[in-house]
Amino acid sequence: MTSITGVGVSPGRVIGPVLQMPPAVAEPAPGAGLPAGATAEAEADRLRAAAKTVQAALKDRAAGARKEAAEVLQATALMAADPMLLKSAVKLLEAGRGTERAIWEAAEQVAEQLKSLGGYMAERATDVLDVRARIVAELRGVPAPGIPASEVPFVLAAEDLAPADTATLDPAMVLALVTSGGGPQSHTAIIARSLGLPAVVAAIGATELAPGTEVFVDGAAGTVTPSPGETERSLAAAYASREPLQPFDGTGTTADGHLVPLLSNVGGGHDALKAAGLGAEGVGLLRTEFCFLNRDSEPTIDEQVAAYKAVFDAFPAKKVVVRTLDAGADKPLPFLTDSTEPNPALGVRGYRTDLATPGVLERQLQAIATAAAQSEAEVWVMAPMIATAEEAGRFAELCQAAGLETPGVMVEVPSAAVTAGSVLKRVDFASIGTNDLTQYTMAADRQLGPLAALNDPWQPAVLHLVKATVDGAASRQEAPKPVGVCGEAAADPALAVVLVGLGINSLSMSARSLAAVAAVLKSVPLERAQQLAALALGSDTAAEARAAVRAELPLLETLGL
Ligand code: PEP
Ligand code: MG
Repeated sequence: MTSITGVGVSPGRVIGPVLQMPPAVAEPAPGAGLPAGATAEAEADRLRAAAKTVQAALKDRAAGARKEAAEVLQATALMAADPMLLKSAVKLLEAGRGTERAIWEAAEQVAEQLKSLGGYMAERATDVLDVRARIVAELRGVPAPGIPASEVPFVLAAEDLAPADTATLDPAMVLALVTSGGGPQSHTAIIARSLGLPAVVAAIGATELAPGTEVFVDGAAGTVTPSPGETERSLAAAYASREPLQPFDGTGTTADGHLVPLLSNVGGGHDALKAAGLGAEGVGLLRTEFCFLNRDSEPTIDEQVAAYKAVFDAFPAKKVVVRTLDAGADKPLPFLTDSTEPNPALGVRGYRTDLATPGVLERQLQAIATAAAQSEAEVWVMAPMIATAEEAGRFAELCQAAGLETPGVMVEVPSAAVTAGSVLKRVDFASIGTNDLTQYTMAADRQLGPLAALNDPWQPAVLHLVKATVDGAASRQEAPKPVGVCGEAAADPALAVVLVGLGINSLSMSARSLAAVAAVLKSVPLERAQQLAALALGSDTAAEARAAVRAELPLLETLGL
């Protein structure tokens, strides 16, 4: 069988049997009643038995799972035999609903009630809906949804992975991820990088691989090869016995000592502690919206202070760049965004929510300033989705009013890159969000698998905009203003070298990528990085740019990157 080619988003070479992620459980038809001859009583027994089986299966999995996953599975197991849920389902059965429909509607009601309670209870609504899908699958006699259980390590194939799948993904059992959908910035890609698993996305045909088929996955090349031969076996063996990467020693530098601070992207205090443990020189992007994704109302100032301080305290005397709430598109926050917008990625998102919902940003800046005053971190603040110099100026004024001394902007919209000279006159630094900058430059939704090749930060157009930003930062200012990169591009060791060659001052990435980026950067003198940047800029296509630069960095091959 020939190889399937997709987009490699996390390096590594492994061989293992494929298991397919079962499809989502379809909703039973709304009008479905009890089947002819069935009694409500007998169906109630069948429903209880299915719920018991689901509960036992979840408990079993919890027993063998790592700590965080075990907690999720135990909470879900409890919900499976929840008397309130089963009671309301039986009532619906007695009223004439079919068995699957009865549990479906009962769970809907329970989930709604939980959501209306808010906070922790609202988060449990997801567990109820998960349990519902499992019970319906059990009633239908089809595989349970979610990551399949297995006795042996396997390559997980799926259409795409959702955030909820992550909690139960056991990196000791899953050898690699292969999805037919998703792009380089998709959730699957981010999960794979944070777990250090090889992954290929946008691999059309991945979901057609028969379960049990042995495949060779090359997460750097972006290929999935069924029935691997001698060559693939020796590549996988070489990868398994490769020299382990040295942990990052806490100083990002080129071979000739040009310092490039390597920072981490974090979503909260827990991430920050992990990043500090892996040597991060600070935080280059605190995604504050991640602290409040489950909230349907604005967090109080005290809640915000606590969330931000937890991050600052992990980095005393180090830089922490806080990004103000970036709500909208793939990260809706009900108190800031309008779910009925026709084009959410081009809508009132990021900094723009200050127009539609004034006050939230000012209160957030106040909370950041309070948390900063209570900690020793060097706190910088930046706004997402800045498109014009006026917006940058207004953000700087708001920061100043809150007593925050280092305002900056994210460069994610091409207009900000092109006019970086004017934008940076008004703020102290810029951080390029290559994930969004790529999607807007290429006009390609970052979540769409079929557009993955366009959504590639190696696209020469994106690299030219990175250069435009650096050039703008050096022009019309008394001294060049610092420009960092905090998109996923910074986590690609070859691209990181190019970015440094283009004049980027710092790189921020998921903490897992620090060691690889540090090792490759340290092997290249600055002048060589500049030559590689010129090579990439001069390429006609993303594929040519990547191949040309990678060919000049043989260390990538040695390290299995
Ligand atoms: C980006 O767009 O590159 C970025 C870092 O922001 P996010 O991925 O959170 O949109
Ligand atoms: Mg962004």
